[in-house]
Amino acid sequence: MSVGLLGSIADAISGGSDGDDDVFTYECASCGTEFDRPKTRMIGVRCPNCRSMDVRDASDA
Ligand SMILES: [Zn+2]
Repeated sequence: MSVGLLGSIADAISGGSDGDDDVFTYECASCGTEFDRPKTRMIGVRCPNCRSMDVRDASDA
């Protein structure tokens, strides 16, 4: 059977073969710290400085 679709999903979850350095830049709304996180880990992003979850996308300048 074909595993093409499942393979694509697995690649997307694991970061794939062409998105290893595909990162998002976030800015903490509480302390202003900027930090990067891989796009594949957008859920539950926290500020590494103050642990706040009130962060926003800072790459869309
Ligand atoms: Zn912070």
